[in-house]
Amino acid sequence: MLVGATFLHTVKSGIKTPKIHGVPAKVPVVSKEDKERVERLQQGLADGSLKQGQIDCPKCLHRCCVALIKDVEVDICPRCRSIWFDKNELSTYLLARKDVPGDIYHSRLSKYSCPHCIKPMREFCFINPHNLLVDKCEQCEGVFLEEGELDRAVRLNEKQQ
Ligand SMILES: [Zn+2]
Ligand SMILES: [Zn+2]
Repeated sequence: MLVGATFLHTVKSGIKTPKIHGVPAKVPVVSKEDKERVERLQQGLADGSLKQGQIDCPKCLHRCCVALIKDVEVDICPRCRSIWFDKNELSTYLLARKDVPGDIYHSRLSKYSCPHCIKPMREFCFINPHNLLVDKCEQCEGVFLEEGELDRAVRLNEKQQ
């Protein structure tokens, strides 16, 4: 899903020039509907009009906002742009089989705590052996992605399929 690949990039830099890693996309990768959605989200993050969520960002402890990306309602931090996915939300977003395919491999303790369970999460390779590390709560199985990690997860997931 190319739309997903450019999601955070477009949130950050505006929708006029869809680019992946600075390389102009050959084809328009953002549909009109998604453009409008990203514009609304960007606007909401900027002016604080997004609905406030129930959790604090595991990274900067700012209260998250609730936002719809594609058809998945996630918690996004308006300050550091991290995103929290409840169980099964990331796989729904990625159209993947599992939230974190690499979670069967070894992990280490994360420096962040789950915003629901208030327990340290664990850090896993998103897809073995790629070096994208993501935080996942072993108890509620939510996944925490810092800014830029969703784009990388989308690309790794596409390669995998
Ligand atoms: Zn944050
Ligand atoms: Zn949890």
